[in-house]
Amino acid sequence: MERQLRAAFFIVNESNDAMQFSIALRLTALLVSLLLLSGCAVNPVTGRQNFTLMSEAKEVSTGRQADAGIRKEYGVYNSPTLQSYVNKIGQKLAKKSHRPSLNYQFTVVDSPEVNAFALPGGYVYITRGIISYLNSEAELAAVLGHEIGHVTARHGVQQYTAATAANVGTVVLGILLSQYIGPAGSQLGQSALSVMGNAILSGYGREHELEADRLGAEYLARSGYDPQAMIKVISILKNQELFDIEVANQEGREPRRYHGIFASHPDNDTRLHEVIDEAKQFALVNAADNRAEFLHQTEGMAYGESSAYGIIRENTFQHGELGFGVTFPPSWHIRNQQDKVQATSPQGEALMELTLIDNPRGSPADFARQHFQVGASDEVLAINIKGLPAAILTSATHDGRPFMAGVFYYNGQAFILTGVGASLAIFDQHHAEINDAIRSFHALTAAERRSIKPLAIRTITARKGLSYAELASQSPLGANAANYLRLINGQYPDGEPVTGQIIKIIK
Ligand SMILES: [Zn+2]
Repeated sequence: MERQLRAAFFIVNESNDAMQFSIALRLTALLVSLLLLSGCAVNPVTGRQNFTLMSEAKEVSTGRQADAGIRKEYGVYNSPTLQSYVNKIGQKLAKKSHRPSLNYQFTVVDSPEVNAFALPGGYVYITRGIISYLNSEAELAAVLGHEIGHVTARHGVQQYTAATAANVGTVVLGILLSQYIGPAGSQLGQSALSVMGNAILSGYGREHELEADRLGAEYLARSGYDPQAMIKVISILKNQELFDIEVANQEGREPRRYHGIFASHPDNDTRLHEVIDEAKQFALVNAADNRAEFLHQTEGMAYGESSAYGIIRENTFQHGELGFGVTFPPSWHIRNQQDKVQATSPQGEALMELTLIDNPRGSPADFARQHFQVGASDEVLAINIKGLPAAILTSATHDGRPFMAGVFYYNGQAFILTGVGASLAIFDQHHAEINDAIRSFHALTAAERRSIKPLAIRTITARKGLSYAELASQSPLGANAANYLRLINGQYPDGEPVTGQIIKIIK
């Protein structure tokens, strides 16, 4: 077998049409024989034979390989008690699933995004962002159950099989080769995951999502939760999505979407109600939602952006770890990205960008001249702004476009804040605003450092007459506070606290 594969591989490099055709035939025959030998597996959910290119061992090792990347990319949320609570609920459901012997791992990732996803092999992730919208252990179990459903039905693996079947020539050959030729094996996880990755994060399409809901509801029922919690969660997340699309449009960012959400509202989704109703047959008596325990376990959990990555409050950006703040022009849209902070004018025709370079050489003015390849006519002003050595580049041009920039030295790093306009007229129009923003750059004061402690979920007991409008007036969540509070308490769009109800607030 090994010799055959290598031979096929070497001949592929020839560029003769007839030769290629015969290789394609031989390759197809070879693939068919390989698939007949090892390519079929029993689907754990249906019990039927599935056409698949991946063994369970390979599935697990692919998941394990990607797990390290997910942990690094998203960051694991730093709360051992919350991690162990979520893992406990996940393990309870997994034991009642169609693949109880897999080695499942449930992880809360440190992201304000609203998502949950699973890798093949039993690696399940839930963001703290989605947890903030849940109101009971049953709802948490519903999200985890849905993801376990993707694992037990092998949706990630099927996605992979479908993608490779459509691209048999290169991908499959590469994979088969890597199984036989050791050193290439490490690349397998990468290529397999890039095929699966998009679906894992953004959803598998209507049928697979519905199947995950059905399986999740079954695991809920078998674990002593009401399977209707699945519909409740989908409704909450749909409301969150509808509201966030509005806010995201105002803020010029992508909306936060859970991958399993589809166009129709769950209230009107007949098929969803049908598949959830099927789970009733597995339901235990005395179903629990364990709301009080869930609220206790999630009390104090961080909400929204993390100060370690920078916090946006109105038009100010403050970074706790790097220790600086900058105030952008009012009404500009601020976006915090992996390697830069951007602010765009309301019409999007002027842009400011903040970047960072380690260990700069020379003075800020020297650095600015070199970094921007300053021409003879450009002005560089060496200056001290709020105690920091700085340089300001005024009336400079780059590729014919006017721009202005400030360079600040702080903690051994150069912070570079640049403002550009789409044309000279637009730049002139925003010049004063850009100048003010550049000159607002400063090291955080002790008071500012204290004030940017991240927001967290707290609970209160509603007294008689308490309204979301009243809670919103004391909330740090800004103009949309009442709606956010309703959403996180499952009372969107027009609910009000009931006397004696435990209400989540953000502080
Ligand atoms: Zn899903």
